[in-house]
Amino acid sequence: MSGQHAPLPPSSAYLWGPEGCPGAMQMQARQPPQEETEESREGDAAHDLLRDQLRKLPGRDVADNGVPIDDEMREAVALMVDWAFAGLAEWSAAKDQFIYENEVHAAAHNLVHPDNDGTPDYVAINWTRKIVRIGDFKYGHGFVDAYGNWQTVNYAAAVVETHQIPNWRDWTFELTICQPRNYHKDGPLRHWKLTGFELYGRVEALKRAAFAAIEPDAPLQTGDHCKHCLAQWDCPANQQRGGYALDIALSQGSSSMSPDALGLEGHLLDQAIRYLTDRKKALDVKIGELLDCGFRVPYHAVEFGKPRDMWDKAKVEQAVQVVEMYGVPVVKGVALPTPRDCMKKGVDAAVIKPYVTTNAPAKKIVQVADNHAAKVFGTRANPQRENT
Ligand code: SF4
Repeated sequence: MSGQHAPLPPSSAYLWGPEGCPGAMQMQARQPPQEETEESREGDAAHDLLRDQLRKLPGRDVADNGVPIDDEMREAVALMVDWAFAGLAEWSAAKDQFIYENEVHAAAHNLVHPDNDGTPDYVAINWTRKIVRIGDFKYGHGFVDAYGNWQTVNYAAAVVETHQIPNWRDWTFELTICQPRNYHKDGPLRHWKLTGFELYGRVEALKRAAFAAIEPDAPLQTGDHCKHCLAQWDCPANQQRGGYALDIALSQGSSSMSPDALGLEGHLLDQAIRYLTDRKKALDVKIGELLDCGFRVPYHAVEFGKPRDMWDKAKVEQAVQVVEMYGVPVVKGVALPTPRDCMKKGVDAAVIKPYVTTNAPAKKIVQVADNHAAKVFGTRANPQRENT
């Protein structure tokens, strides 16, 4: 969600955490304030609705930021709310002792860092079964994994500390990502369960990363996390990373680039094109497999080329004698002209037919306009959006 954050918020733990970039938060702090995007406003609106529903407040048509609440939002939020209350109903039926809360401030000032706190979307603590259950709602489309998610690990540490859970290394932690608008094979509700002992090691790693992030010379570390970093356009490390050259070019937008800047951007674009070409090839293989199995893949279809006549490899020597009889020159060591070329040069099709085979038509993946895609992804051509 957008708004005021602590210097090391759990929601940015993917950025400053153990697998992120130690210098990212300081780089971001140097950037001018960012305007809210349509996606972030929608995300905030969906979180308003979620908060109301988890608190069983009456429904609303407009969020606090003025964004209208639509049916897509209601459906998305209902998924998280149903999951949350189903779990509570089970605990309640068993007469367990538990509490639950939503968007209540929690701090990991001792376990992680004095500047580390945030507000988890959903927390449930079962004192009878020694379970902490945390749910984080994502309204964006970009896939967020539950496994190894540093944000929910950080919330778990904050909940342990805020609620002073004793002997928490003996507890179980159930960390869930609810992402209704991401179409992933694991579904929109993704869970990661770990023991308190396993959590402890990760919290220690978070703590080390947090202290490294406030060092004055915290190093820059590029990676997938860069695409969510507000300093991306300004970051020297990122500028050298080929995979994100295209993003850099789009964010610069300068009309007076120096020769050095032009040269660098051209070089980075070249790298990016190779990177994207390789990825597209890999994607096409997978898409082809899915289409072969009868799945519908938005924007893609299979197209077959025309079948082609070829010389039968086992009968090439006879074929050479036949085409030479018709006066077609054959150069030793050089492939025969194709059957089609030979026919153009006067060779009788019926005569060469015994020496010819027809190959299977070539298959290729093509892009198509697709109403199904519009139905799945809405009216946007590009279904990718930032997470909120
Ligand atoms: S763009 Fe990447 S390397 Fe640069 S500060 Fe941000 S996260 Fe770090």
